Amino acid sequence: MRVHLTATAAAAVRRGHPWVYRDGIASAGGHPGHRGARAPRPAAAAAAASGEVVDLLAEGAPFLGRGLWDEGSPIAVRVFQRAQAPLDERAIAGRLERAFALRDGWFAGRDTTAYRLCNGEGDRVPSLVIDRYDRAAVVRLDGGALAPWLDRLLPHLARALGARGVRSIGLRAQGDAEGKKLAHLHGPPLPERLFVREMGVAMEVDLARGQKTGAFLDQRDNRARVRALAAGRRRVLNLFSYAGGFSVAAALGGAGRVTSVDSASAAHASAQRTFRENGVDPAAHEFVTADVFDFLEKARARGDRYDLVISDPPSFAPSERAKPRALGAYRRLHTAVARVLEPGGVLCAASCSSHITAEDFLATLDDATLERDDLRVRAIHGQPEDHPTLPAWWEGRYLKFVVLE
Ligand code: SAH
Repeated sequence: MRVHLTATAAAAVRRGHPWVYRDGIASAGGHPGHRGARAPRPAAAAAAASGEVVDLLAEGAPFLGRGLWDEGSPIAVRVFQRAQAPLDERAIAGRLERAFALRDGWFAGRDTTAYRLCNGEGDRVPSLVIDRYDRAAVVRLDGGALAPWLDRLLPHLARALGARGVRSIGLRAQGDAEGKKLAHLHGPPLPERLFVREMGVAMEVDLARGQKTGAFLDQRDNRARVRALAAGRRRVLNLFSYAGGFSVAAALGGAGRVTSVDSASAAHASAQRTFRENGVDPAAHEFVTADVFDFLEKARARGDRYDLVISDPPSFAPSERAKPRALGAYRRLHTAVARVLEPGGVLCAASCSSHITAEDFLATLDDATLERDDLRVRAIHGQPEDHPTLPAWWEGRYLKFVVLE
């Protein structure tokens, strides 16, 4: 099918933005390569099947690029290329091989067995995310554009990943009756739970029921930063601790006592197994099942103070519309955190919402919000190299990790 874009959508594609929203389509119809075979239809009537290759044309019909149609998503086309070259499984397999080869170099000799093998748009394979967890890989498809391609891509994936020691491939799916969110695609059955290694640290990952594809791989470098920051700190507080990635990093870094707070008790059980696997006695640390806001209120009332606080909440702003409310929630959180931070302490505040820019986020950490003026922004970090983005794809740069001291 050939799709004519509005001027705005065409400009975005020229910049390299990988998405065409439905309202960016001026008209559609006709098969690529059969110029004029069918009269163009208005956008509303555009009806291709998900996964179909579409040619994108600017007003006046110059060729802009080629992508895959998605019937069901607000993103109507995922743009794969600007060139008029074939868009087939060989082309996609070639890009995957490039993404995997980059990781071979990035992670060689780093004692790390869990990382993102393909970050979708950021690796020029829109909508396809592949995470490696040692001998297993988990595929996640955003939207429906690549779903019809999966069977054809699987042999390529199995070969390329098998050569790198990955034996099993699974697909992140909707939770089944038992809450399992993993479907088998290839190889021996995937373990429900396993230990991976991250820069020499063991980490339990729940492939069947965990968040994301099992773990928050995007915080790897920030966990290493926390490990370094924790040296010599008496009391560390990790808020929204999930499976305890930052907690174990702080404990291994030399923190006296680490308090992990999460509303999910299953997350603490996982964190404690990770502590033990790393030779750290969880009994020397504290795991609190509570709402973070309640916990902070009570900690302040008790007079508890911490030398290092990590705050990494779930996304408060899943959409642009939710942004004002999210900023308010970050402010309330940061005000409460600052009240339990010891003078001379370090605060690590994270946000994983792409709708909140770094400047937006820093405004929720200003002096008025923190009710103190002794802190400076020591560093602003983001996501690691295995979560690459594109210059024009701002939506892909979602992670902020601000270190105040
Ligand atoms: N920091 C983690 C990821 C956090 S994910 C890591 O690096 O791995 C968000 C976590 O916050 C989830 O485990 C969820 O159970 C928890 N959570 C969400 N809202 C909460 C609240 N109001 N109080 C306590 N925990 C909460």
